[in-house]
Amino acid sequence: MRNRKTDSNKGKAVRDWCYNGFLALFLLLALSGARAGELGKAEIARRFPPPVQVGDKLTTVPAWPLTSELTPDAGPLGYVFESIDLAPIPGFEGTPFNLLIAIDARGNFTAVEVLRQHEPVFLSGLGEGPLQAFVRQYEGHNLKQAISISNPYGGRHQPTAGGGRVVLDGVTKATASIHVVNQTVLSAALAVARAQLDLAIPGRTAPAAQVRSELFAAKDFAALLQAGEIVHQRWSNAEIEALFAGSDGAALDAVGNADPAGEFIDLYLAYLNAPTLGRALLGDAAYGDLMRRLEPGQSAYWLAASGRQGLLEADFVRGTTPARLTLSQDGAPLEARDADLDFPPPPGAPPFNSLLILKTPAFAALDPGRGVNLKLEVVREKGQVYPTVFRQNLSLDYTPPAGYFIWPPTPLPEWLVAWQAHWPDLALIGVALAGLSVVLWRPRWLAMERRRLQIFRLGFLAFTLVFIGWHAQGQLSIVQLTGAVKTLRAGQGLGSFLFDPVSLLLIAFTLLSFFIWGRGTFCGWLCPFGALQEFVGLAARRLKIRKRHLPPRLEARLEQGRYALLGGLLLAALLAPHWAEKLVELEPFKTAITLGFDRSWPYLAWAIGLLLLNVFYSKFFCRFICPLGAAITLGGRLRRWDWLVRREECGQPCQTCHSRCEYGAIARDGRILYEHCFQCLDCVGIYHDAQRCAPLIFRARTGRAFPAPHRPAKATPGIRPTSAQSAALRGDTPP
Ligand code: SF4
Ligand code: SF4
Repeated sequence: MRNRKTDSNKGKAVRDWCYNGFLALFLLLALSGARAGELGKAEIARRFPPPVQVGDKLTTVPAWPLTSELTPDAGPLGYVFESIDLAPIPGFEGTPFNLLIAIDARGNFTAVEVLRQHEPVFLSGLGEGPLQAFVRQYEGHNLKQAISISNPYGGRHQPTAGGGRVVLDGVTKATASIHVVNQTVLSAALAVARAQLDLAIPGRTAPAAQVRSELFAAKDFAALLQAGEIVHQRWSNAEIEALFAGSDGAALDAVGNADPAGEFIDLYLAYLNAPTLGRALLGDAAYGDLMRRLEPGQSAYWLAASGRQGLLEADFVRGTTPARLTLSQDGAPLEARDADLDFPPPPGAPPFNSLLILKTPAFAALDPGRGVNLKLEVVREKGQVYPTVFRQNLSLDYTPPAGYFIWPPTPLPEWLVAWQAHWPDLALIGVALAGLSVVLWRPRWLAMERRRLQIFRLGFLAFTLVFIGWHAQGQLSIVQLTGAVKTLRAGQGLGSFLFDPVSLLLIAFTLLSFFIWGRGTFCGWLCPFGALQEFVGLAARRLKIRKRHLPPRLEARLEQGRYALLGGLLLAALLAPHWAEKLVELEPFKTAITLGFDRSWPYLAWAIGLLLLNVFYSKFFCRFICPLGAAITLGGRLRRWDWLVRREECGQPCQTCHSRCEYGAIARDGRILYEHCFQCLDCVGIYHDAQRCAPLIFRARTGRAFPAPHRPAKATPGIRPTSAQSAALRGDTPP
């Protein structure tokens, strides 16, 4: 094997510089702002030709109103907006998607188009076609529906459509990106709907509760009132006077002031769609009539008042919205109208001065299972000819009994849906990582038996390549690093990593492994492309193809090149993202692993060429090109322990491990060069094997310890035999 000592010392200074440089670069990258939308009004208008007219961009929310030339006074038909202005959620590559989204006044998606995206898998892998096809699926659906993505497994974990739920077909090999797209579409549309549409939108797009129309129990008015199924509140004259106190509207109610304790109003409110309430309050005939008149999605509320104050203004027209009443949910008014229905007062109720049924519009998609608020405006006037008007609101909250509804399951956050969809992968990979940790923590038993180690290692690498790489799409990539850079640069958190649970699990484990075992845990065991290189190299050895070596000086120089590539990529991500998108194609991971070699020929040629180079020069890509490997090597400097066992004889005089290490990761002086070590555990096996370890063989044959090495006075760093090892070497105890 090559002598790395001199080159390694020279390289150390470079790596130190790189390490500090990259830290500084990361801090620098964290400081800057996000992108804004890219279309002007004219470009939007080209997409929405007459008779649709595009209005000026709103100041309240970054959206353009769409109106019709044919009905200019009818108000906006809907709104169009760029998602990047409202929900700039970073994708896999760190840059947010920019989607052009149009919704109508009822919250239905009328158009969704991808304006810009930087996801590697769509840029030059699958192409943008599958993504455009995916976003077109939103059209016709309402943003109040629970929209989710089909998962790759189907079966029990497959979300099912129906009951207000919509399941869109995902895109194979791009599940993490697609979850980000879904989150982006819904978040942006909800932001506009909350600002501009008269919709009652709960905190999340949960399907509304559905009333149990079969559930009926005969109850009288008093029982319903006592159970809180009908709510009411009484205000005295004095309480109303107190509302106006301090204003010029005070002391204007002579009748009320003469009887402060007298009733100003007793206001009643109940939900009518539930048969128990509806039939008790309206009677069977009127209830049946009302239910026939309501459209799907409409809810009806029963209002009544007794006392001096009524519900309706003097000039109220039946079938319209009462001017002084406002029904709302989550602070959003519901534009409720009079149902224009005659019905009697309920038996056993107090005498009312007014009765009213308010029905909500169907498109408001109110959730009837949740609370509503009723406001009644109390108006006072001062003066005769041009009176000054004073207004105060009386407020009544009401939530119908939960038992009257079927409750659809609360939707999970989009990132949790992704985790749920991948739980079988996560469980299996988690078990594999736990097993690998045990092996690396206590490698002796496995490593001592050469065949046992080989079976385990090849089995694990096959799992890494086939399951982690090709199946679970868990190939970590430099794109995640450049993506993190861009995300930080945009002043956003790294929350988008949550959408790719398999990668996140591997990233977390790799970060942890830096502190314990160093660089080789990922590169030696968990990198699918690294595993593919191992198998190609193994096949080459079986075919008796001889390995070649570059001159050591050239090799050492070339090894520094990957740090330059890493720095260049990070800088490009910061300063020239377009270049960064192209440069990351240096990695053959997308071609070989993500897309399983299903790609155009230049990419195939590059990936296959690297694998062929690996036949002659072991791990050629890892050692000379891989920018991710460079970053991981720098991370491996956080290692706290020299955990690979060594003896005093290692390197002087024994050269067994130095010459046997496939990766050239043992220096002539016996030190482990952890930055080159792929943790194959061969040297651990040799160390413990009385048939392969020269000092053990010598002692077995002669009964004496190996001749004492001529050590320099200063201890060689990296060689730290334990007292037990030293004792074993002296022949006191078996090693
Ligand atoms: S150096 Fe790069 S390709 Fe090689 S194992 Fe590490 S991450 Fe994978
Ligand atoms: S033989 Fe080389 S690569 Fe394998 S564990 Fe030992 S030092 Fe690392």
